[in-house]
Amino acid sequence: MAPRFFPERWRNGGWPAGKAFAFIGGVFGSIFLALLIWLAADQRVVLERSQRLLDKTVPSTLEQFRLARNVEQLRLEGERVLSGPTPVARQQALFIVSLLASHPALLADARAAALAHEVEAFLARAARADSKVDDSAEWATLSNRLSLLADDVSIDGVNLATDDLRQMAATMASSRVRLAIVLAVVAAFVGAILFLIHRYLIRPLQAMDEALSALRSGQASKPFATALMREIGAVEGAIGELREAMHEKEQAARQLLLLATIDDLTGMFNRRHFMALADEEIKRAQRYDRPICVAMADLDFFKQINDNYGHAVGDLVLQSVAQVIEKTLRQSDWVCRYGGEEFAFLFPETGVEEAHRLADRLCQRVARNPLELANDVCLPITLSLGLADVGSASLAAALRRADTALYEAKRQGRNRVAIAPLATAAADPASSSVEPQPPAAGPDPPARSRP
Ligand code: GH3
Ligand code: MG
Ligand code: MG
Repeated sequence: MAPRFFPERWRNGGWPAGKAFAFIGGVFGSIFLALLIWLAADQRVVLERSQRLLDKTVPSTLEQFRLARNVEQLRLEGERVLSGPTPVARQQALFIVSLLASHPALLADARAAALAHEVEAFLARAARADSKVDDSAEWATLSNRLSLLADDVSIDGVNLATDDLRQMAATMASSRVRLAIVLAVVAAFVGAILFLIHRYLIRPLQAMDEALSALRSGQASKPFATALMREIGAVEGAIGELREAMHEKEQAARQLLLLATIDDLTGMFNRRHFMALADEEIKRAQRYDRPICVAMADLDFFKQINDNYGHAVGDLVLQSVAQVIEKTLRQSDWVCRYGGEEFAFLFPETGVEEAHRLADRLCQRVARNPLELANDVCLPITLSLGLADVGSASLAAALRRADTALYEAKRQGRNRVAIAPLATAAADPASSSVEPQPPAAGPDPPARSRP
């Protein structure tokens, strides 16, 4: 469910895919832009620091080194003023000391300028020819101070560069962390987008593909999960409607098939369907020279049941007998409600003796299963059965002979099986296709010519 601040129609009807992805792209674009600005600020600091290193720190460091070198030079020239071999050499050294002491680099540094001035004055005094003072101790102090100053100035120069380099290294490290964060955010976004695409586009598409394949092969498919994208929801809705329509069509086709093949009172095959199937089966048996029998059965004194207990009870009797028959027959045997209270049977792969045993068992089972009515009345039911070996005859001819045998069973007292004599070519031409006529259904059929 979308959060409350989204429009009502987005929350109920699913998100329009284009707008949803534009929204996600906009959110990410803004976050990414902010991160880029954040990263750029860091880079600006790095640039400024490196620029300052080039423009100021490096020249200042060089300046410091130059100053240190001048201070050291001043000390060396002082040595030469004091220990020069000739007065001329000492004067030359003193001249250089004066030059060095007035060098702008030395004058720019207050410590160096003061010490240079002191050294220059001392050396000028010491260089005078009439000087009788022992100046070695004072020079040792001055020389030592010059050395220390040169060292300090060099260290200052190194420190200048080191400080800047350390700051730059820190800025670079922080910028690396920021870059890693930006990359992680981008990776997370790409992952989230891939997940959304997989979850809300690819998976629904796969489900639709499966549903369409199932529809094509006539199998049931899983219902769709609620779609987040409106367009996906619309297609899923259309597939759902198609599935519904096909389901209804299948139901109607199944219903039609049932109506065309099944007798709705007993649930058995109807006569037309049985005739078509039995005809095929008989032809196959005759092609491979296999035994096959047919039978006709008719309930005994059924009219009396209708007359005494009503048509509805008669229907119950028909249903009860149909159940007993279905339970007694083998899987390979076929039966139909031939019409009224008559049933026709086909026993494939069955010789007449075995079919006789089966028919007897059928008679006994029906007789042993009276219909119990609500008011403790037990309604005895029996049936008579005529059996015929099909041999080389047609289905219609075999059924006619079974019907004649049924007539004989009725004549002999009912609740029994009679077997039709083997067909003779003259009595039973295979070409004849006139079937025994079933009684018309209903409470008042035309009377059949049976005792
Ligand atoms: P028989 O022993 O000689 O067969 O005597 P019967 O009384 O059974 O005589 P017949 O076979 O001629 O009677 C058929 C009766 O079956 C007449 C008709 O009312 C009844 N019938 C036919 N179709 C239906 C049906 O669908 N439902 C009900 N309740 N009765 C039917
Ligand atoms: Mg009858
Ligand atoms: Mg009857």
